[in-house]
Parts: sequence; C-alpha cells; structure tokens
Amino acid sequence: MLTEAFFRAIPKLALHDHLLGTIARETFQDLARLRGAAITAEEIAAFYIRGEKPVGVLRAFRALEAEVLQQPEDFHRITYEYLAAHARHGVVHAEIFWNPTGSARNAAEYARLRSGILAAFEDARRDLGISALLIPSIDREAPPEAAMALVEWMIEEPDPVAVGIGIDYNEVKGPPELFVPAYQLAGRHGLRRTAHAGEFGCPPANIRIAIHQMGVDRLDHAYTAVDDPELCREIVDRNLIVTVVPTNSYYLRTLPRESWAAEHPIRRMPGLGLRIHPNTDDPTMHLVDPSRAWSMMHRDFGFGPEALRGFLLNGIEGAFVEEAQKSVWRAEHLAAFDRLLKDTAP
Ligand SMILES: [Zn+2]
Repeated sequence: MLTEAFFRAIPKLALHDHLLGTIARETFQDLARLRGAAITAEEIAAFYIRGEKPVGVLRAFRALEAEVLQQPEDFHRITYEYLAAHARHGVVHAEIFWNPTGSARNAAEYARLRSGILAAFEDARRDLGISALLIPSIDREAPPEAAMALVEWMIEEPDPVAVGIGIDYNEVKGPPELFVPAYQLAGRHGLRRTAHAGEFGCPPANIRIAIHQMGVDRLDHAYTAVDDPELCREIVDRNLIVTVVPTNSYYLRTLPRESWAAEHPIRRMPGLGLRIHPNTDDPTMHLVDPSRAWSMMHRDFGFGPEALRGFLLNGIEGAFVEEAQKSVWRAEHLAAFDRLLKDTAP
C-alpha cells in the first residue's frame, strides 16, 4: 500500500478545479462580512460538508458570485490561497475554471476582476514556484447568450494566461447543444476548449457533442463513456485526456455505500483505453486535497504504481502548455515518481 506521504510528494498537475469551490471557509466568512453580503455564517458552514449538500446550497454559490467577490483583490486572495494550498500538496501547475458571467457584466469588468486572478498567479509563481492558467468557464445554467458574451469578452480582452474555455454547473439543466455556437466562436479565435460532459449520469451523446460539435481538446468527467465502447475508442483515437474526480458527488449520492468504489465508472475507464487524470474539483467544499484525490485512485479504486505513473503522464499530455514544458515535466516528474516509489517500497 502506497502511503499518504508518497502521494503528497509526487509532483502533480491540477487540471480540474473551480475557483469558487476552492475558497477556505474563513475566507468566505471574512469576505462576506467585508462586502456586507446577506449570507449567514450557518449558510456558509453548510457548504463545507462532504457528499450531499443541503437544499439551498446553490444560493451560497450565487451569493459568492453576486455579493461577495466584488473586487480584484477578493479574487486575488482566493486564487493565491488556492495555489498555496495546492503547492503544499506537491502541485506544480494548475489550470483553473472561473465563471466570469456570475460577477462581471461586460468585457471591461471581466478584465478588471480577472486582473486580481492573474496577479495572484504571478505572485504564487514568484513565491511558491507554482504556475497557473485560467479557463474562463460557461455557466450552463445561464442562457446561451451569456456564454456567447463570455467568449466575446475573451476575444475583446485577450490574455495568453486565459488560455481557453470550459463549461460547468448542472449538465441536466444546460445540455451541451445549447453552447455549440459559443464553443465554435472560441475555436475560431484559437482558444483551447474543454467541457464537463457525461457527469450526473448524463448520456454519452453529450460527450459526442462535446467532441464533434464543441471541438474539445480534453474532457472533464466523461464517466458515462464507459457505457459506450465505440465512443471510448474515439476518445482514445483523438488523444483526448479525461480529467476525473474521485469525490464526484453524483456517485457518492447514487451508488450504494458498501459497493461505491467497486461500481464507480472511474475503475473501468483505463481498461477501456481512456487516459484519465485525477483531480479535486471543489477541494475545500468537498473536503479533499490533491494528495487525497490521488491516494483514492490507489486505495479506493485499486490502481497500482504502473497505472498511477500513467495518470501522471496523462495530466502532462492534457495540460494547455507548450510541448517544451511538457517534455521537461515528463522527465522531471517521472524521475521523481520512480525515486519516491523506490524509497516507499524497497
Ligand atoms: Zn468540475
């Protein structure tokens, strides 16, 4: 059995975290007080539990967007704290989702709030040696016009660090076909593309739309691909890396407690050829950290050193960085992995 210390020490990439899901509870409370948001400490506390969230929890998210995070320095604080927490768990590079349309109303406001995030990226790189990219993300519970507006803002206010787009929130409420025009516009302007698809038990057809019509460069979740071997082959042939989340709340909620890990689709994905990479998603709100997300792959889903080594390579392959950076990471991270493995299991 590999130890928690091993998982903490291996160099890691984080390709699937949502900025709002990384906020520490004390920071949420501090900022809510500072900005005079109408949200109680109890409502905030209810957010920080594992598994099923209480009714009305979405309100906390929306309050965060609309009432709490008002200034670039608010975004700076949560971004820097997130990167510092991940760096303590061996993360050397993070690509993070943020839904600008929840807080900004136009391109100028988008750029103004984004400046806090980008300044935090620079500070964290200087102080902690961790690099980061931003993936402005479509809120699929908002109308498709907001998605279009977001991509237009990104075109109007380009920055190489805001490398591409994603799409998140509830896939049942916002099916992918509604957002194809926004993705196509992003593609025409050279933005990288990833998408949450096949989450919440949504049909594999959603993953097909992400690939064929949205033109994604990688996939987030895509669990229901396991029900469709032909789709799995296509994902493999197109060299699409899939970010997965061991603590994903849908399966915690819907699978029987005693057989949860055995029945989880993550367990079957590598056997179908899918190249997966484990992530924390909403780390503070799901009470998980990168070391634990990786150790769950081993302890709960039974993946051994060889498979874990492959996940490490998958993350590098799927990152939205230049090939030169990838080859540096491949050499360094594999060497570190192999050395730590040797120290752990002589
Ligand atoms: Zn997610």
